[in-house]
Amino acid sequence: MPLNRPIIPPRRPCFRVCYICGREFGSQSISIHEPQCLEKWRIENDQLPRHLRRPEPRRPEVLTDKVRVLYTVFIFFQQMVLICLP
Ligand SMILES: [Zn+2]
Repeated sequence: MPLNRPIIPPRRPCFRVCYICGREFGSQSISIHEPQCLEKWRIENDQLPRHLRRPEPRRPEVLTDKVRVLYTVFIFFQQMVLICLP
């Protein structure tokens, strides 16, 4: 992957938030990032003393249906706003 590309916010709202670190990624790069991020998280977590270790973050798919609907509505309106921008 080229790393020297300038970081330009994409015009199309295809952001997805990494459920591990909370950063935003494009819909394609998140699929590359997530496994690497989880791997990194596991390594870091394993180095912590036992009492400081955290449970592994879960994918947002485990959200309840209610939260999922609210999230979908939120994304929908967010996209509307972005599309309506000049
Ligand atoms: Zn991440």
